[in-house]
Amino acid sequence: MRSAERPAVAVIGGGLTGLVAADRLLAAGLPVTVYEKYPEAGGLVGTFEVGGERLECFYHHIFTSDVDYMSLAEELGLAREIEWLSPEMGFFSGGRLYRFGTPASLLSFSPLGLAGRLQFVLSTLKLRGISDWNALEGETAAGWFRAHGYAKAYDTVWAPLLLQKYGRRAEEVSLVWLWGKIALRSRSRNRSSLRESLGYLRGSFGRVVDALVARLRERGGEFVPARPVRLVRRAEEGFDVETASGSRRFPRVLSTVAIPELLRLAPDLPGETRALWSGIAYGHALCPVLELDRPLSRFYWTNVGESDMPFGGVIEHTNYIPKERYGGRHVVYVSDYVLPDDPKWRMRDEDLWALYTPGLERFSPEFRKASILSKRIFRAEYAQPIVTPHYSRLLPGIRTPLEGLYSAAMAQIYPEDRGQNYAVRMGRTAAETIMADLT
Ligand SMILES: Cc1cc2nc3c(=O)[nH]c(=O)nc-3n(C[C@H](O)[C@H](O)[C@H](O)COP(=O)(O)OP(=O)(O)OC[C@H]3O[C@@H](n4cnc5c(N)ncnc54)[C@H](O)[C@@H]3O)c2cc1C
Repeated sequence: MRSAERPAVAVIGGGLTGLVAADRLLAAGLPVTVYEKYPEAGGLVGTFEVGGERLECFYHHIFTSDVDYMSLAEELGLAREIEWLSPEMGFFSGGRLYRFGTPASLLSFSPLGLAGRLQFVLSTLKLRGISDWNALEGETAAGWFRAHGYAKAYDTVWAPLLLQKYGRRAEEVSLVWLWGKIALRSRSRNRSSLRESLGYLRGSFGRVVDALVARLRERGGEFVPARPVRLVRRAEEGFDVETASGSRRFPRVLSTVAIPELLRLAPDLPGETRALWSGIAYGHALCPVLELDRPLSRFYWTNVGESDMPFGGVIEHTNYIPKERYGGRHVVYVSDYVLPDDPKWRMRDEDLWALYTPGLERFSPEFRKASILSKRIFRAEYAQPIVTPHYSRLLPGIRTPLEGLYSAAMAQIYPEDRGQNYAVRMGRTAAETIMADLT
C-alpha cells in the first residue's frame, strides 16, 4: 500500500483487544491512534502493586487451551515466562470448605449425595461430548439440567454459582455458556493428576500490555491515555472522533468498548441495529482484594455455592503463586458480580466491606484472626456479558452497518466466554477485517 492509500484508524479502547488490533494494523503499515479512557493501558488486565510486585486488579490465569494468547506471548518474547501450575480448587457449601475439581475430590463432596455425584459426572461427560454447540442454542442451562434428570447436580453446584454471577437473570443463562466453560476447562487438565494446569505470567499479565504499548510506539502508532472518546459521528469519508481535546477525522474506526457504550458513542448507528443490540446485557464486577498476614484456606479458587453469601468466589492468589513474590503478603480476591441496577454497584467501599466481612468470617475462621495489611475494591463496568438462548441472533459482527465503523467487544466472543485468549483472537480478526476491506 502506498502512503496515500493508507487510511488512518482510530481504535477506541486500550485494553488487550484494542492493543492487539492496533499492533496488527501498524504491522501492515496503517497509521493508528488508540484512545484510552483511563491513564493506563490494559483495561480489565490493569495492575497495581503488592509488596513491590505487580498484580492484576482482577484475578487472572490462562488455560493450556489458550493458544492465541500463547502465540502472542511467544511473539513478544514472554512465553517462557509463563508458569504452569496446578493449584487446588475448593467449594464452599453448607458452611464447609471442600476440595473440588478432581475425580477424587468428587467422592468426598457430600453436598451432592450419591445420586447428585452420579448426575454431576454424567452431565459433565454429556456436555463434554457435544461438539456442535448450535444444537444447544435454544436451551437455558437450568432447563437442560432439569429436563435431563440432573436437577440435584444443578441445584447444588451450578445454580448457586449462576445466581451469584447473574442474580435474577441466572435462570436465563444459555446452556451454550456453561457448555463453553465445561468443554474448555476439560481441555486444560493435567493428564497425570487430572487437575487443571493454569498459566500465570511471572510479574503479571500487565507485561504483555506493556510490550504491546512499547511496540505500538516503536512502530509510530499513537497511544493516547486518559482521553475518553465522547462521540463518533459519521462524516464525509469517515468519522469525526470527538474527545476533550477536539475532533479528529479518521477514515476507519474500531471500537473495543462494551456494546451499550458503543450505542452511546455512535448515534448514527441505524435504529434497527440499536434495537437489536440493546438486548445485549452485562453484569458489572466488584472485586475486593485483601492483603493478609496469613492464609485463609489452602485453595486457590473456591466457588461459593451458597446463595446467601455476599460473594460468589474467593480466589487466594498466593495459594497459586508464592507469597514471597509479594513481600510475604497473602493476597485474596473476592469475586462479586452485580447487575447494573443492583444498589451494591453504587455503594461506598465501607458499606461493601460491612457486607463482605461477615461472609469472609463464615468462609474461614482464619479470617477473624488474620491481620488485614491492606484492602481495596476494584470495580469494572460491563465486565461479564450475559449470554441468553439464541444469542447468535443478537451477536454483532465486526463490521457494523456503518461502513468504516467496526466493533470488537467482549460480548462478541461466542460460543466461548470472555478471556484474554479471545481478546487476542478478536483483536487480530478485527485488524484482518479492516485490512480486507481496504484491498
Ligand atoms: C473479574 C474478572 C476476571 C477475569 N479473569 C480472567 C482470567 O482469569 N483469565 C483471562 O484470560 N481473562 C480473564 N478475564 C477477562 C479478560 O480480562 C478480558 O477478556 C480482556 O481483558 C478483555 O479485553 P478487552 O480489550 O476486550 O476489554 P477491556 O479490557 O474492557 O478494554 C476496553 C477498554 O476500553 C476503554 N474504554 C471504555 N470506554 C472508552 C471510551 N469512551 N473511550 C476510550 N476508551 C474507552 C476501557 O477503559 C478499557 O481499557 C477476567 C475479567 C474480569 C472482569
